[in-house]
Order: sequence, then structure tokens, then C-alpha cells
Amino acid sequence: MRVHRVILALAAAVLAWSGGVAAADTAPPLKVVATTGMIADTARAIGGSAVTVTALMGEGVDPHLYKASPGDVRVMTGAGLLLWNGLHLEGRLGDAITKLGSRVPVVCVTDSMPQDQLLRSAGAGSAPDPHVWFDLALWRFACERIRDAIIERKPDAADEVRERCAAHLALLDTAARHVQAVVASIPAERRLLVTAHDAFGYFGRANGISVRGIQGLSTDSEASLREVNALIDVIVERKVPAVFIESSVPRKAVEALVEGCSARGHAVTIGGELLSDAIGAAGTEQGTHVGMVVHDAEVIARALGGNAPARPAVLAAWLDVAGGRAP
Ligand SMILES: [Zn+2]
Repeated sequence: MRVHRVILALAAAVLAWSGGVAAADTAPPLKVVATTGMIADTARAIGGSAVTVTALMGEGVDPHLYKASPGDVRVMTGAGLLLWNGLHLEGRLGDAITKLGSRVPVVCVTDSMPQDQLLRSAGAGSAPDPHVWFDLALWRFACERIRDAIIERKPDAADEVRERCAAHLALLDTAARHVQAVVASIPAERRLLVTAHDAFGYFGRANGISVRGIQGLSTDSEASLREVNALIDVIVERKVPAVFIESSVPRKAVEALVEGCSARGHAVTIGGELLSDAIGAAGTEQGTHVGMVVHDAEVIARALGGNAPARPAVLAAWLDVAGGRAP
């Protein structure tokens, strides 16, 4: 009888214990909503199973011109953590996010970046360049900000999230070195990157290539004829072999530039499509932040006469998984 009672007590204890474990295991992941694919991908890489991540802007979407739909507002309102780029990247969507700030936990992933590392187009007083994801060393600050924001709301996952973040920072270092080597393979006199808008300032600074965009830092204003003609002068003078379209910007302006150069007797080709303000399709390597930067560097190098050296093994393996070529 006594033994029976002990067994019953033990069974009850085991049930209570397993119930407790089950509750911890099934604790719902943190609902993260990110404005851009670059931020969403980084949050997925760092958050792992502790988060579910939704990106508001998909493949080919221009963040400068994006307006929040009623559906977006519902998704943002239901977020456990809302991540955005700030620095005026999101244009009107940024206004909507600022208004939500009192109701939803909102974190701006660029707000811990040192001010003196931000690029400004015209002197210290002007607005900073928002395209910070193209400087993989500077993007560390975004990773750490995302890590801390997840841990604050999901302390039970702190160890996993810290480990994943450290691994991701190591990957960014490897990718940064590879991208530098890729750009360095372009003959020095050909290191001029001409694109649809000024998204590649940080890419240029990090990798030693001059950059010129037809439109400015945002796509919300048209380039003047005078500016386009000045750019044609530079391309003709420096015999630039290729210019580039961007997946999130209409290609018309770049095609007009090619025609303008042709009329001046200089044949310039479209060297490929770059991913500037939006990552590529889900399930491809370009559908990740690291993959987009590597893809762009390799497309640019090949079109400008470089040879794009082989990817380091660690990076190649990671991109194979991202691109669905390896489990
Ligand atoms: Zn842009």
C-alpha cells in the first residue's frame, strides 16, 4: 500500500516535471516583423527557432517609395518586435512605424551605429546614407542590436541567440574579406561602379571602388538632364565597359545612359542586375543578405574585367545551404 502511494507520488512528480518541460518547449517563438529582406534575413539567422520572422517588403520592392497597406499595419500591430532600418530608408513606411512606436516594441537596427561611420552625401549637416547593409563590418552593429532586442523579449533563448549571432558575425567577416578580394580583382582603372541610384556608397568605401548613381540616395527624385550628361562624360572619359541595373528600380534611366554613351561613340553594356535595396527570391542564395552582397560583388567584378576569385569553403558551404544546393 505504502509502495503504491510512493509510486503514485513519483508518477505525479514526473507528470508535473514533463508538463513543465513541455510548456517551455512549446513557448511560442517571438513574432518578429522586419521592413526589409536584409533585416528579416539577419533576424532569422540570429533568432533561429526563438523567432518567426515576416518581411514586409519582398523581392524587387523599393523601400524608398513603399507605402504600408492596411494588411501591413495589421501585421506590424501584431508584432512582438518590429525591426526597421531608419535613416529615412523606409520613406512613408517610416512615418507609419514612428506612429506605432507607442503600441509595439520597435527597434531601429541602425541606431547603435557610430555616427562617424555613416556616409553623408553632402557634408556633415546632410542626412546619412541609409544603405548600411553594404558595409558588412558596419552591419555588425545591426546584428548585435537585433541579438539584444530578441534576448530582451526571449530571455529563455539567450544562449542559443548569442551563439547564433557569434557564428553569423564570423560569417560576415569571411564574406567581407571575399567581397574585397572580388572587387580587388577588377583592374584599378576600371573600378567605377555606375548604378541606377546611389545605393552603393558603403559598398564602394568598404571595397575600394568609386560609385556613381543616376538618381541620388533615394529613388523619390529624378536625376536632372545635366546630372545625366555629367555622368555620361565620366563613363566616356574613363571608358567604363559596363553599367548596372537594380532589381528594385526601373531600368529606363540606365538604358537612357547606355544610349547617351552610344551617341557619343562609346559602347557600354548593361553588366547585370544588382540587388541594391531588396534581397533576391526566397530559397536562392541571393535571397539572403550575405548572398546578395556576394552576388553583387561577383556580377560587378565579372562585368568590369575582374575574375571573381573562388569563394572560401566556409562561405561557399553556407551559400550552398541558403541556395538549396546542400541540406
Ligand atoms: Zn536605395
